[in-house]
Amino acid sequence: MIDKAILDVMACLRCKSSLTDEGEHLKCSECNIGYPIKEDIPHMLEESIFSLDG
Ligand SMILES: [Zn+2]
Repeated sequence: MIDKAILDVMACLRCKSSLTDEGEHLKCSECNIGYPIKEDIPHMLEESIFSLDG
């Protein structure tokens, strides 16, 4: 779980939309992509982005 205050200041690298905490990853519903969360640290890197199809 990511701190709400931290989540509020983070934005998608691609579209700058706000992200939602999905537990295992942060989600951008605009791009339909996820950013992995490892040891409570979201990996906000272009190379870490994965697609969330379906
Ligand atoms: Zn996005």
